[in-house]
Amino acid sequence: MSARDICTHWREHPLLKWNDSWPPNEHSDCRRRASEWPKSLPWVAAMRDGEKHTKSAMITVGLAEDTSHTELDQLVRDGRWVCTCGDPRLPPVQDSSWGILISHDVAEQAWYTQHRYSLPIYHRGCPVDEVLSNHSLRSTDACLKLLDPDDEPKYPDYKVEQSVVDEVAAVIAGRDNPPICKICYNMTKDNSRSKSLYLLKDVNVLAHHIKTKHDVQLTKDLIIFQYFRY
Ligand SMILES: [Zn+2]
Ligand SMILES: [Zn+2]
Ligand SMILES: [Zn+2]
Ligand SMILES: [Zn+2]
Repeated sequence: MSARDICTHWREHPLLKWNDSWPPNEHSDCRRRASEWPKSLPWVAAMRDGEKHTKSAMITVGLAEDTSHTELDQLVRDGRWVCTCGDPRLPPVQDSSWGILISHDVAEQAWYTQHRYSLPIYHRGCPVDEVLSNHSLRSTDACLKLLDPDDEPKYPDYKVEQSVVDEVAAVIAGRDNPPICKICYNMTKDNSRSKSLYLLKDVNVLAHHIKTKHDVQLTKDLIIFQYFRY
């Protein structure tokens, strides 16, 4: 991939905003007052360990190492190379790409690692009980899958009844802060509780989190709110 291709590719990422000024400005500049610092929006940079992750993801699902990026994108857009966690934040497969799939997988693994380190020390040995590591590539039931052309992916059934959707929607609409999963919150030690616990103000995303990370159905009592500065 040329540098230009990489830039174009990363700009397809719908969740990111970009720093478009040229020449590139620094994220922070000690010679200037903080109020004069340039915006701290990201510049194009390679995903940390992106190559390593992509390689192990390809090995996990049995893709040949020399499969081209175009072929990988085609597999994703045909709905064959999928993450069967069914994350509602992922775009429809026809709008997706291998890069989106891999960044999703890497983000989920990083979330799990961070979560594990924020558990009280006596819990670290047995985090599996409390949070499912569904994106581990080592697990035999990793949700990253390469399907046969006529296979239908099986997605977790996280949807809740309309009455629950309405209740949760009302609860989150009444608050300024983003919602927090009570199960995650209770597991996290006091001094590790931070903005990283925040989830999206989206009932589907909450229902999906609670089902796929804790194997529990969403109810409004599982959503709490707390303000964190960091
Ligand atoms: Zn996933
Ligand atoms: Zn990408
Ligand atoms: Zn435990
Ligand atoms: Zn949780």
